[in-house]
Amino acid sequence: MDLALLQRTLADAGQPAFRARQVWAWAARGADGYAAMTDLPAGLRDDLAATVPFSTLALADEAHAKDGTVKSLFHTADGRPVEAVLMRYRDGRRSLCLSSQSGCPLTCTFCATGAMKFGRNLTASEILDQALHFRRMLRTTAGRPTSSERDAGSPAGDSPDHVVFMGMGEPMMNLDSVLEACRRLPGVGITHRRTAISTVGWIPGIDRLAQTDMPIRLALSLHAADPALRSEIMPVNERYPLADVLAACTRFHAAKRRLVFVEYVMLAGVNDRYEQAVALAEILDPKVFKVNLIPYNPTGSFDGSGPEAIDTFRAVLEERGLRATVRLTRGRDIAAACGQLAAASA
Ligand code: SAH
Repeated sequence: MDLALLQRTLADAGQPAFRARQVWAWAARGADGYAAMTDLPAGLRDDLAATVPFSTLALADEAHAKDGTVKSLFHTADGRPVEAVLMRYRDGRRSLCLSSQSGCPLTCTFCATGAMKFGRNLTASEILDQALHFRRMLRTTAGRPTSSERDAGSPAGDSPDHVVFMGMGEPMMNLDSVLEACRRLPGVGITHRRTAISTVGWIPGIDRLAQTDMPIRLALSLHAADPALRSEIMPVNERYPLADVLAACTRFHAAKRRLVFVEYVMLAGVNDRYEQAVALAEILDPKVFKVNLIPYNPTGSFDGSGPEAIDTFRAVLEERGLRATVRLTRGRDIAAACGQLAAASA
C-alpha cells in the first residue's frame, strides 16, 4: 500500500499517529485487506478501503514451477510491469527476488530486462508490496495459525526469510527507495542480515550502502575479469571500471566486515574458459569475496555453460583459495530469469 498516502489520509481524518503503525503491522503479517484489521474502528476500515488501495500493484500474471518457485508479474497504477519471484528451498529457506525498477536503463547484453525499455524507479511502497504479496501467499498456503501462534500474536503461517534485489533494475540507481523498503522488511520477517542488494558495480551506491546502519549484504555482478570483455557484455563497465568497483567493494568490506558475494553468470564460450577462471581468481581477495557461479537462464542471445564446464571453473577458483559455489537453478520451467515474464507478455 502507498504508505505516504496512508499517513496523509489518517492525518486528514484526525486519527492518532499509532493508526498507521497498526495498519502496517497487519499488512506486514499477511492480512489480506483492511477488513481483517479488527482493532481498527469499522468505519475507518471502510474509509481506508475506499481511499487507499490495499496494494500499489495489481497482479497481472503468475507462474508456479514444479519446484515450488512462484514468479509474479504485476502492474503499477500507471501500468508499468514489475516482476518478483519466490523461491522455496529444501532446507526450508523462503527467498524473495525483488525488483527495484520497472525495466532497467543499463544494457547488459545477456539480460532480458536490459533489452526492455526503461520505465521508472519504483517507490518504496511498490517494492514492499512485492514482498507483501508473497507474505500473504505463504500465510494462506501454510494453513491457519495454530492457537498458540494466535495467542502469541505471532505471524500466522510462514514468512519469507530472505530477500535479494536481483529482479528488474539496478537497485543502486534507486537506493533511497530500496533502503526505505529495507527498513520495513524486518516487520515482514526478513532481517537486514538476510537481505542482499545486487549491483552491476554502481560505485556511489556501494559507498552509500557501506555507510548505512543496516547490515545489508552486497553482491556484485562481475561476469568477466577482463575489462574489454566486461565492457562488451556490461557497457556500464566504461563508466565504472572493474578495478575501481573492486576497490569500492573492499572499502565496503572494511566498513561492514561482511563478505561481498560475486555473481558470475556462466556463458558458454564467452567467459567460461580455464584462463578466465585463473584471471578471476587473480583479481579477487578471498578475504573479501566469495564467488557464486550462476547457470545461465537462456533468454535468447547466449548459450549457458554446461554443468561440467561450471564445475571445472569452480574447481580452478577453489584451487586458488577462493570460496566458490554454484547457484541452484530454480523455476527453469517458468522462465524465471530476470525480465523474462514481462518480456513474454509485452
Ligand atoms: N542490476 C543488478 C540486479 C539485477 S540482475 C545486477 O546486475 O546485479 C541480478 C542478477 O541476475 C545479475 O547478476 C544478472 O547478471 C543476473 N542475470 C541476468 N539475466 C540472467 C539470466 N538470463 N540468467 C542468469 N542470470 C541472469
